[in-house]
Amino acid sequence: MSDAVPQQIPAPDYDLPEGYRHAYSGKVRDLYETPDGRMLFVASDRISAYDWVLPTPIPDKGRILTAMSLWWFDRLTGIVPNHVVTTNVPAAVARRAMVCEQLDMLPVECVARGYLAGSGLVEYDASRSVCGVNLPPGLKDGSRLPKTIFTPATKAAVGEHDENVTFDEVVAAIGQDEAQTLRRLTVAVYERAAGIAADRGLILADTKLEFGTRADGTVVLADEVLTPDSSRYWPADQWEPGHPQASYDKQFVRDWLTSPASGWDRHSGEAPPPLPDEVVERTRDKYVEAYERLTGKRFA
Ligand code: ATP
Ligand code: MG
Repeated sequence: MSDAVPQQIPAPDYDLPEGYRHAYSGKVRDLYETPDGRMLFVASDRISAYDWVLPTPIPDKGRILTAMSLWWFDRLTGIVPNHVVTTNVPAAVARRAMVCEQLDMLPVECVARGYLAGSGLVEYDASRSVCGVNLPPGLKDGSRLPKTIFTPATKAAVGEHDENVTFDEVVAAIGQDEAQTLRRLTVAVYERAAGIAADRGLILADTKLEFGTRADGTVVLADEVLTPDSSRYWPADQWEPGHPQASYDKQFVRDWLTSPASGWDRHSGEAPPPLPDEVVERTRDKYVEAYERLTGKRFA
């Protein structure tokens, strides 16, 4: 889609014991193979926006996202197995990492939506459908959908944008059986999680999941789950369709980056500038607030 040179993710410098081999760094996570052939899945404090990794980290973000993912994995048991093996990890990555099964990742970003926002809204406005799913007329930014829909996307490389695809395209990529399994599991996870979030006064508008398969073919829930980086959470008491909703995500960062104060043009192809301290602090506060509100625990 773009001709931009892929952004280099700086190599992480965690002081890990011997035998851990760096395998991959994405926008936020650093993956290592462990000495016993599993995977150390580390959440850094990096933050991305507009498909860029920003030069300024958000303190504690990786710990918050890891704690949230673990909390959710616990609440999804019975729906689908997950990739977590243990939270017993080397001291250098304490609390920001988990040991996971190495899976063969399925090349689909599995999105479920219960409300209209983001790329779903853009598609709806153009075609009154999202990823080939037809929707009733009259829906607005933030409207509740008549039922949960599965709106898959392709997984893009760093610097590229994920692209929405139809269910039939997923079938063409991975086959009918697996496509149906992903749709069923994604909707089931979303609905369980949306119910739990609702009990805490939060609307889970949508979420993105990733799945992989074990050698025996079992489909397993992987990656992070139900964090503010992968999901839209809205405070239910402020929900009002017709405009963008207040949200527990990177709103401060996005607003600042697109304001004249940043001096940055997101269409320039140039890397975004460092974030001011105030934006960093308010963003950290939002992540902490999302964690505390959901789990009812304090982030210490
Ligand atoms: P973004 O999340 O911003 O789209 P990204 O997905 O490229 O970016 P990260 O989230 O930083 O990058 O990296 C996590 C990577 O680990 C993803 O590529 C994901 O598919 C992969 N992954 C997650 N769980 C597993 C697993 N159990 N086995 C193998 N790979 C996994
Ligand atoms: Mg990711």
